[in-house]
Amino acid sequence: MEAKIKAEGLDPPTDKDNGPKSLLQSEALYQYILETSVYPREHECLKELREITSKHLWGLIAVSPDEGQFLSLLLKMIGAKKTMEIGVFTGYSLLATALALPDDGNILALDIDRQNYELGLPVIEKAGISHKIDFREGPALPVLDKLLEDVENHGTFDFVFVDADKDNYLNYHERLLDLVKVGGVIGYDNTLWFGSVALPPDAPLPKTLSFYRPFVQEVNKALAADPRVEICQLPVGDGITLCRKIK
Ligand code: SAM
Ligand code: CA
Repeated sequence: MEAKIKAEGLDPPTDKDNGPKSLLQSEALYQYILETSVYPREHECLKELREITSKHLWGLIAVSPDEGQFLSLLLKMIGAKKTMEIGVFTGYSLLATALALPDDGNILALDIDRQNYELGLPVIEKAGISHKIDFREGPALPVLDKLLEDVENHGTFDFVFVDADKDNYLNYHERLLDLVKVGGVIGYDNTLWFGSVALPPDAPLPKTLSFYRPFVQEVNKALAADPRVEICQLPVGDGITLCRKIK
C-alpha cells in the first residue's frame, strides 16, 4: 500500500486523518482495552517492534497491538501451521503470527518492499522465530499465480492474512480460495477503512481514504455475497473480515 499510495501522490496517514487505531467511539475505552488486556501480555519483542515502527513516517499503517493479539489467538484456535501474509511492512503482524505458530509452522511473507521488513528483522531474529518465515520481495499476485501452477499447493494453507493493496483484494481472493484448505481462514484487513465505508459518497475525506474506499466497499459486498465462504466482519483494528472456506 505504501508504494502504491506514494505512486498516487497521496500523503502518509496521520492521527488526524484516521483517528486512533480503533473504531471505538471513545479513545479512553480503547486505551482501557490496551492497558488491561493487551499490553500486559504483549511479547517483549512485539513491544520493541511496535516502538520502532511508531517512529516510522508510515508507522500508523501497522497492525494495532489488539489486532495482533486477536490474530495470535485465532491462529492458535484453528491450529494453523501453514500460513501466508500479504503486506508485511515492518513485521508486527508477521511477528505476532510467527510467535503463535508451532515450531514447525511457516509463513510465506510477501511484500514489494524489503527495506521496511529489514527495519524490523533484528527484532524478529531476536524473538527466535525467523526460521518460520519465508520472506519474498515483490508483488504478491505473481507469487500466488506461480503457487497455483503446482496442484500440490492447492488446498494447503491453513491461514492467510491479507493486508496490502486494497484494490487487489478480490484478485487475491480468487487465488487464495484455491490455495486455502476447506476449513481454512483468510483474514482481510482494513475492511472498515477507518469508518469511511459507511459515510455518504460525497463526504469530505483525506485522499488516502477516498482513493481506496470504493475498492474496500466492493470487497465487502463481494465477500458478503460469496457462497464459497462463511464470513464475519469484526471491528477490531480497522476492521478485519474473516472468511472460512466451506467448499
Ligand atoms: N501487516 C503489516 C503490519 O502489521 O505492520 C502492515 C502492512 S501495510 C498496511 C501494507 C504493505 O503492503 C506495505 O508494506 C506495502 O509495501 C505492501 N504492498 C503494497 N502493495 C503490495 C503488493 N502488490 N504485493 C505485496 N505487498 C504489497
Ligand atoms: Ca492493515
